[in-house]
This record gives sequence, C-alpha cells and structure tokens, in this order.
Amino acid sequence: MAGQINAFEMAQKQFDGVAKQLKLDAGVSEVLRWPQREYAFRIPVRMDDGSLKVFQGFRVQHNDARGPNKGGIRFHPAETLDTVRALATWMTWKCAVADIPLGGGKGGIVVDPATLSVREKEELCRGWVRAMWKNSGPRNDVPAPDVGTTPQMMGWMMDEYSRLVGQYTPGVFTGKPVGGGGSLGRTEATGFGVIYTVREAMKRRNLDPKKSVAVLQGFGNVAQYAAIGFVELLGGAVAGVSCYDRHDKKAYTYTKKGGIDPRFLISIVDQYGTIDKQKALDSGYEVGDGDNWIGLEVDVIIPAALEGQVNAETVKKISKSVKLIAEGANGPTTPEADEYFKKNDIFNIPDFLCNAGGVTTSYFEQVQNDMNFYWSKDEVLQRLDEKMTSAFNSVYDRSEKEKVYMRDAAYMVAIDRVVKAMELRGWLTGSA
Ligand code: NAD
Repeated sequence: MAGQINAFEMAQKQFDGVAKQLKLDAGVSEVLRWPQREYAFRIPVRMDDGSLKVFQGFRVQHNDARGPNKGGIRFHPAETLDTVRALATWMTWKCAVADIPLGGGKGGIVVDPATLSVREKEELCRGWVRAMWKNSGPRNDVPAPDVGTTPQMMGWMMDEYSRLVGQYTPGVFTGKPVGGGGSLGRTEATGFGVIYTVREAMKRRNLDPKKSVAVLQGFGNVAQYAAIGFVELLGGAVAGVSCYDRHDKKAYTYTKKGGIDPRFLISIVDQYGTIDKQKALDSGYEVGDGDNWIGLEVDVIIPAALEGQVNAETVKKISKSVKLIAEGANGPTTPEADEYFKKNDIFNIPDFLCNAGGVTTSYFEQVQNDMNFYWSKDEVLQRLDEKMTSAFNSVYDRSEKEKVYMRDAAYMVAIDRVVKAMELRGWLTGSA
C-alpha cells in the first residue's frame, strides 16, 4: 500500500492539475487539497495468548460540505496516514461525481487481519469504534468495509456504536450483512454500476454492445458482476478473465472459444477470487499466463483487480481493436497509460465514476436504515442505474463541452459540486 508512490501526493497532484484548468482560487484549492480532520489513535487489544497488543488506527475526514463523510476502513499491514488521506480525498470526489449527498472519509488499522483470531478481530473492531464514536455517526461520518474488512466486522462495529450511544443506530456503518441492516443489491452494485456506465458510453460512442467483446482483470466481487452484466444486461460476450491463484501464487488468464460463462466461473471461484484451475480445464477452458488478458483482441477492457495494472509497459500490449476501457478497480491506470489512451482515441471511464456503484448503494443502505424500511433488490438496482446513468452523462457532457479527457472532466464535475456546496454553506466567505 505504501510502496514507492505516495498516494496522497498523487491525489494532490491530480487535484492541482484540474484546479489549474478550472482557475480555482488559490485559497479554495488549499482547503480542498488537504483533509478537514484527521484522527490517529492507539487501540489496545487483549490477545488470545494473554498479552496486550496495541494497534495504530486512523480516520481521515476529507470534506463534509455535501454531507456526512463516507468511506471504508481498511485493515492492512502497510496502512499509512498518507494512504488514508489519499483515499479519503478520492471518496470526496467519488461521492460528488455520483451526486450523492455525502463527503469523503477513510479509515484504517495497521494490521494483517489474517494473523488475528475471530475474537481478536472483533475486539479490534470494537476498539476502533470506542476511539472514534464521538466523531462518527449517521449525520457525521459513516464508514464501510474495504480491504481486509468484511460485512460481519461492520455488524460488530455498528453494535458497539449502538451500545455507546444507547440506541440502535444501523446507519452509522454500511456494508452490513443482509438481515443485519444491510441492503439487497450491494453485492451486485459495483460490478453492475460499471456496466451501466459502459452501456451509456457505448450509446454515446455508437458502439453496439451486442457485437462487443470484453476482457476483465480480476474475478472478485467487482469483476464477477461486471462479467455477468456485460453478458446478461448488455448482450455482449466476455472473451476471458484474469485472476490471481492463491495456491500457485501467480495469476492466470481463463479463456474459452465463444466466450466464458461468468455464472459457471462464479460456481468454481473461492471467496478470495481464485478460480479452481482444474475444474476450469475440465470444462474446456484454456488457462494462459496471467498477463495475457491485456493483449486479447477485444472491444472493451475492464481492469477490476488492482491499482497500476495498465501502465507504460502493459499499455503497449493493448490490441488495436480496443475502443473502451472501464476502470472497475481503483487507480488501475497510470498517467503514462492515460497519455496513450488520449493519443489513440481509446475512451476511458475513470475509476471514481465507473466504480461509484458501491458507495451509491451504501448510501441507499443508509437511507433504508434511517427509514427503517427496506427496498427490494430490483428497486435498489433501478435507483442505482438512474444514478450511474446520470453521473456518466454529466461527466461525458462536460468532457465534450470543455474538450477534455474523461478523467479531467470527472474531476471538474466533482470539484465544482464540492466548491458550490462550500459556497452555499458560507464556508468561503465567512469565518466558518
Ligand atoms: P476482490 O478481493 O473481491 O477481488 C480481487 C480479484 O483480483 C481476485 O479475483 C484476485 O484473484 C484478482 N487479482 C489479484 N491480483 C491479480 C493479478 N495480479 N492479476 C489478475 N488478477 C488479480 O476485490 P474487489 O472487491 O472485486 O475489488 C477489486 C477492485 O475494485 C479494487 O481496486 C477495489 O478497490 C475496487 N473497488 C471495489 C468496490 C467494491 O464494492 N467491492 C468498490 C469500488 C472499488
């Protein structure tokens, strides 16, 4: 996570580039290039062996002009304050571009969750809430699961918060299990959201989805539902998917003549997104090198695994047939690859627009919690479609109007909305 690239410096650089194009006031830029509030705290946990261990926790609230801060909590051994700052900043832009009334937040604990017992995990989750509860809440800051955290953990955290405030408060955490305050449709949300934006992009670019072929990197939550959506909602074909095999410790690309069957592959994938190679081979799939996915002759590529996968080196392998890239993952494309896309007229749906379906459905979960009235899956997905369609089209229109790359247009739409909210609240005129 920390790596050589400082994610927060990257987030600030992206912002500075667009702020310049927007001729944003220097003082307003200074407000937005830093988080409003940052919390760093230590969480003591009594371990199963009787020892007391202390963990480092964080929460960063980047900007809440448009509504309560929203963003996940990561449990990761390489978590840093700067990573959390960057992710909180990106959440502000993601919520604004999706036009949901929420701000940007992110949290974390420096820990490898795989090293903890179930009881230790629960203690750590409850400890995080005890450190942060006074600064969290449905009207204040609403966390969700992220890398290393699960719906069950959100259930424990919601319970701890409810105990501390003395009343059942499900809307304080989203991504909870269905039956424990979670929303139907959350599992499909991010992948289907990707597909709704692909559908809109194809309409605007005169591409026929029924004659289109896609390839995906990853076969976890996002990629599984993006693959199903591409086949079942758009009528296209998926040539292949690439995923990491945690047993062999390497990635493979799975292809099949005439296209893969996403539902079959979901039946043989484990909870960590590793496909059962032998079962795939037995069912006529070809299993190639994990890097092959990017070179397949397709119309659409959907990176939905990790950051930095489409970079200066791999971008050159992309087939001339590719017309569209839909960023299911966060940060899959490096600036060098962006330059290549611009030069070769490959249309890009940027990550914080393309994968905003997850947070949008988290927002729906919060709304349902607040009303204590739950929607059907169809209702959730229909509302999601409306939100994603409208978000895509406002970014597309802006990119046409300003003649800018889609990523820059998405930033412009998001920054404008946040600045407007700050203005309307008087933050930029008074002493607030
Ligand atoms: P996941 O853990 O469910 O799945 C990740 C997949 O990537 C697995 O299939 C894994 O095998 C594969 N993978 C890992 N390394 C790989 C490699 N080197 N080559 C090929 N495949 C590889 O994760 P997810 O929830 O599907 O998230 C995927 C991406 O989407 C991440 O960038 C995440 O931040 C982003 N995202 C997720 C959501 C969500 O709601 N789940 C929302 C917004 C953004």
